[in-house]
Order: sequence, then structure tokens, then C-alpha cells
Amino acid sequence: MKNCLKKNFANPSSLYKNAFDSSLIIENARNTISKELNVQSNEIFFTGSASESNNWIIKSVFEKEFPNKKRIASSPIEHPAVIETLEYLRTKGAEIVYLNVDKFGFIDKEDAKQKINNDTMLVCCMIANNEIGTIQDVNYFAEIAHKEKAFFFSDCVQGFGKININLKEFNVDFASFSGHKIGGPKGIGIAYIKSGININPLIHGGHQENGNRAGTESIHNIAGFSKAVEILSKEKQNNSQTEDLRNFLIDEILKLNKEFFSNTPKKQSIPNTASITFSGYLNSVILAMFDFYGISVSAGSACNTQENKPSHVLKSIGLTDEQARNTVRFSLSNNTSFKDIKTVIKKLSNYFDDKSEGILLLSPSEINENIIVDPDIFILDVRFENERKNQAGISGSHEIVFFSFRKFFKLIPKNKKVLVICQAGINSPIVAYYLRKKGIKQVSFLMTGLWGLKKTNPGLLERITGKNITKLVISE
Ligand code: PLP
Repeated sequence: MKNCLKKNFANPSSLYKNAFDSSLIIENARNTISKELNVQSNEIFFTGSASESNNWIIKSVFEKEFPNKKRIASSPIEHPAVIETLEYLRTKGAEIVYLNVDKFGFIDKEDAKQKINNDTMLVCCMIANNEIGTIQDVNYFAEIAHKEKAFFFSDCVQGFGKININLKEFNVDFASFSGHKIGGPKGIGIAYIKSGININPLIHGGHQENGNRAGTESIHNIAGFSKAVEILSKEKQNNSQTEDLRNFLIDEILKLNKEFFSNTPKKQSIPNTASITFSGYLNSVILAMFDFYGISVSAGSACNTQENKPSHVLKSIGLTDEQARNTVRFSLSNNTSFKDIKTVIKKLSNYFDDKSEGILLLSPSEINENIIVDPDIFILDVRFENERKNQAGISGSHEIVFFSFRKFFKLIPKNKKVLVICQAGINSPIVAYYLRKKGIKQVSFLMTGLWGLKKTNPGLLERITGKNITKLVISE
């Protein structure tokens, strides 16, 4: 990638030697990737992300087939770049049907036979789920789709590098991939479009990507994606070790409390993912604890942080809102060691054993007018600037920059009760946990944040906001 930025600066569309070198990098990358996926190189199209590929494929099939056919069938646990595109097409007249899934997210095969009919233009079924890791039997669903003369699309983002992806054997018409999910760069994706299928260009205005996606190519990202593919094809043999570690992690966590459960099936799942529901424990606080120790885990998908919506994947497999908010996703890599896993388990068991680890959780109903006049409470607002523009902060609060909250520690009074507030109750636990571990005796955070308070008690929010707000500044 560095070489591309430094040496291959020439635009691949031009007609001189340096430009030919740039073109060659793109075509070599296309060959490397197509070989790995067992398809022809003219079936691989570079895009800016898998989200872009998903949008392009789904919207193009709709443009091609609607109104002759109206139905699109999909699993309900697809990535938002699929689900939200489908919901958009519903507003344009498409009939969107979701297939039933079981508690691990496996699609009900009988339901698929019922719902995929001759009015179906497209079936969307991801190869592996990004939150729970479940691998679908894509061949089975592709066969049903093709029997009904529907196209079949598989979002393969999470499967690439983790399981064998042989697109010829999968018999898919369309597939999508993302660079950063295999250790490559961000901002580069692939759309696989089976040869012989014509769909409308994604971006008009140039000949790039065979006239389908106008715009000068991101050569360094394409080269980086290709390099990542080369590396992963050598490293695939380590996946079974990762899977053993993942299974050990699940087993050990479930031993901590009999109410905890795994949403990831140990068989038929990608080896690196474990989704665990810690019944009774808010995932945002578990995340905060891990973050304090430099361990990075996720709650559901990285989306929906503005409104603290429970994950649609976890809801679809039958979890309640509360169980979804008790769920944490662990992602391993082939570099994760046994020692790493032991550390994670140790941190968790300390966390559940030691009540002094605790930060207090305030629900919106526990907030009242007194908090703005109580001299013992120090209100710390960690929202982002754009959120502050849309909603004034709590009167008497102190604003800091969330991303550098550690630097503000010296400005926080150590003898007061600190109440941390954010937009939706997702970022505040991270700050609250940090303050507690650094020695502040009583720290709380507002669950669901100002967004939650606005929803439950807008009148109160109006009465307690907008006055005497201090922006804290750190002198470097
Ligand atoms: N599809 C799945 C299953 C994913 O996990 C992701 C990323 O998290 C995407 C699509 C979107 O990929 P990108 O970030 O390249 O848009």
C-alpha cells in the first residue's frame, strides 16, 4: 500500500507507462482475489465497502425485476446494509419477507420453502452472521431460489478467511466482501456478480470497473485488499486452533453463572466469534470494565449507538430487549493466545465476584429536579458536540471531550458523587468505570442517557437543562 501511494501515483486510466503499472496492480489484485474465490476475474468489482456492494446488488435486482416480481426474501439477521436497503425498497413497493430463524439464527428450511415462491426476485442470505457467528447452509437456500427463478445473494463478509468460500460451489449469483474484515484496509469492498447477469451501473460517469462504478480507483486499497487475501490463504490452517480457544472461552464463561448462555452454536459457526448473554448484567458496563484493562469487546453490532436500540439480530433469535442489552460479542483472531483467553476469564470472574468494582446505574425514572441543586453531585457530560447542539445539557453540568476523557481526570473533584451523562447510555459507563477504578468513591451513569430521559420524561428534561454549563478545558 505504501508503494502504491509513493510510486504508483499515476491514474490507471491514462496512457503512459506509469499508468499501465497502476492498471496492472488493479488487474493483478482482481486475479488474486478471483482465484481465492474460485470465480472469473471479470466477475469481481471493486467498491468502496461491503455496505456499498450490498446496496448496489439489492437495488439493482429490484430495478431489473420490479414490478414483474415483487417479493424479496431474506433472513432477519442480515447486516443493516441489507436490512435497511430492503426496508427502503419496501417503501418503493417491494414485498419484503423475513424467514424464521431458531435460537442460534439458523434459517428454518421449511419456512424458506413456503416463503420463496415464483413471485420472488431475490433471496438474501449471509454466509455467516457478524454478531453470533452462525453459518448458514447457503447452497440449500440458493437451490430453492433458483428453482423459483429468483436471484440469490450472499453477504460473505464474515465468512471470508474463516471458512472455505468457493463461490462456484456455493452457486450464488451475487456476493459481497469487505477489506477490513480480513485484515486489509478500510474503505474497500467487492461485489461479485456472476458472469452473464447484467445489472445497472452503481455510479455513472466513467469506464472504471467495466463501466459499473465510475471514479478513479483507490489503488492502494485494492492492493491492500489483495495482499490481505494472499496472507489469509496461507494462514487458514490456524483457524481450528482459534475455534478451540473460542470454545474454551464459551465453556469457561458459562461456568461462571448458570444463568449465562451462548448465542453462538459451537458447530457451524465461524471460529472467531462468541456471543454470550450475561443475564442480569448490563453489557455496556462489562464493555467499560474490559476497556479499562485494554481488552476490546463489542455489544451486538457497532450500530445504533445513538438510540441504544437492542440488536435486531439478538431480537430475531428470541432474546428480550433486556437479554440483548446483557449480551457481549467476543472476537478472536488467529493471533489470540490461550493466555489472552485466560486473562479475559479472570477479569470477568473478578468483576462478578467483587462488588466494589461497581458503578451505580441510574434509570431515567430516578432523575429528578434535585440533581441540579445538590452540591454533592458533579454532573459530567461526555456527549459529542453535535449531540450538544441538538439538546442542551443538564443545568450545572461540566462538559468534556469523550475521546480524551482520561486527560480530564485531574479536573474532576475527588470528594463528590460523579454522575456521568451521555447521549444514549453507551459511552458514559466507559468513563464512569474509569473514574471509579481511579478512586472516585461514588460514580453513577444515566442508563439510556439524555435520549432515554427525553423519551420517558420530556417535561422534566426541559426543566433541568440549559443553565450554568461549564466546558472543562485542559491546559496542555
Ligand atoms: N456485512 C457484514 C456481515 C458485516 O459484518 C459488515 C461489517 O461489519 C458489513 C457487511 C459492512 O462492511 P463495510 O464496513 O465494508 O461496509
